[in-house]
Amino acid sequence: MHIKFILPALTEAKSAYWRPIKYSLFPPLGLATLAAYCDRNDRIELQDEHVEELSTHDQPDIVVIQVYITNAFRAYALASHYRKKGCYVCLGGLHVSSLPEEAIPYADSLFIGPGEESFPRFLNDYKLGKAQKMYWSKNRTLDGVPPIRRDLIKRSLYLVPNSIVVTRGCPHHCSFCYKDAFFEGGKGFYTQRVDDALAEIDRLPGKHLYFLDDHLLGNRPFAEALFDGMQGMNRVFQGASTVEAILRGDLIERAAKAGMRSVFIGFETMNERNLLQSNKKQNVGKDYQRAIQRLHDLGIMINGSFVFGLDDDDVDVFKRTVDWAVQQALTTCTFHILTPYPGTKLFQDMDAAGRILHHQWDLYDTRQVVYQTKGLTAAQLKEGYDWAYREFYSWQNIMKASLQHEQVKHMAKHFFYTAGWKRFEGLWNFIIKTKGLNAMLPLLETILSEVRRKESPNTLQQPLYYPPLG
Ligand code: SF4
Repeated sequence: MHIKFILPALTEAKSAYWRPIKYSLFPPLGLATLAAYCDRNDRIELQDEHVEELSTHDQPDIVVIQVYITNAFRAYALASHYRKKGCYVCLGGLHVSSLPEEAIPYADSLFIGPGEESFPRFLNDYKLGKAQKMYWSKNRTLDGVPPIRRDLIKRSLYLVPNSIVVTRGCPHHCSFCYKDAFFEGGKGFYTQRVDDALAEIDRLPGKHLYFLDDHLLGNRPFAEALFDGMQGMNRVFQGASTVEAILRGDLIERAAKAGMRSVFIGFETMNERNLLQSNKKQNVGKDYQRAIQRLHDLGIMINGSFVFGLDDDDVDVFKRTVDWAVQQALTTCTFHILTPYPGTKLFQDMDAAGRILHHQWDLYDTRQVVYQTKGLTAAQLKEGYDWAYREFYSWQNIMKASLQHEQVKHMAKHFFYTAGWKRFEGLWNFIIKTKGLNAMLPLLETILSEVRRKESPNTLQQPLYYPPLG
């Protein structure tokens, strides 16, 4: 049997915002995970339209397409193309899980929620000639998940081929996040067995890892055992956490000892009313500055994520945020225009209030205003968002933020990481064209090398006990 897995390009791939390097970072790990359930005798293909031209003249038996909101129309077009040819088309992913009624006309089988249990069930049904129209994820567990088919990943096309996910979901419930919609009807946060996660890490070549988990520090006993198990594996890694998890106990110190060198944090906003609007309770009343200092002391770089356009934002929010981020020496920042994704609580609230402007999903890319704003006009929001990116990544601010660190090595790492990421687009494009991305990995590993640690006073003040997460 011939099975083809496709990640269609997000519409940003055709827009002025297209940055080839941004979409050449991570391979489509979810599809490679599902491919592991196919029979070893099957002919399996995995194509990622962000890094290669899709070949659509073929006629596989089954085509599996991963659908995000901004590739939905492209995904539906591909689905129609293959169904006309008589191929059996499966659609799954965040967008179709949120809007199954929209996707169903384009699919022979539709997958709602995570696929680790439903996809093998489908394969079995298909072989018996009784595949169903809808597959809901039922018993969610990562126990016994087969090793990801990493042999299908074209490593040379990605800067970070060693991406890895050892948990699913997140313990929190932010109103703008897809998480609750995707995991509806079952567990919303669960982990691999620690031994399986360590074995997966062991299978990866080289030194660098990027954990794509929504919240790598979200389950304390798991994260503690993972980081302890990683000591001595000689890895450097990047991952995501919340401010809350960084402030509590000594988990972040354990992460640093295991090789954590940069962390993605959703600060989102510094306005408490905005946090409450977003149901981002885990950030309310948390001392951002103390968390940042703790990370700096451990030599961990910070990628801060911020949302603009929450109802309590005013025209000064852009300058306040950029000034703060530079002053706090954040290494990189990801800014977003608030985007109400279908299926989220935010979408429901805005829809009920008549604030959703349209359903052109291609424009739901967090760079456009797709809802009726309050406090700011749509034009102010868009202009402020563009300004924030330009300003934060100006040479002056890159230099200013780098110089905030106490150690010269930390300053240099910050400078080269930030400038390398945002100020050398032409060079990245050349490297991508010449298929040399993978060769840049040793340079990334050097930039992520350890900075001598300062003893963090927080470590001594914090209790080593975590209350269980609700
Ligand atoms: S913490 Fe992050 S992943 Fe978790 S619900 Fe909030 S936005 Fe989503």
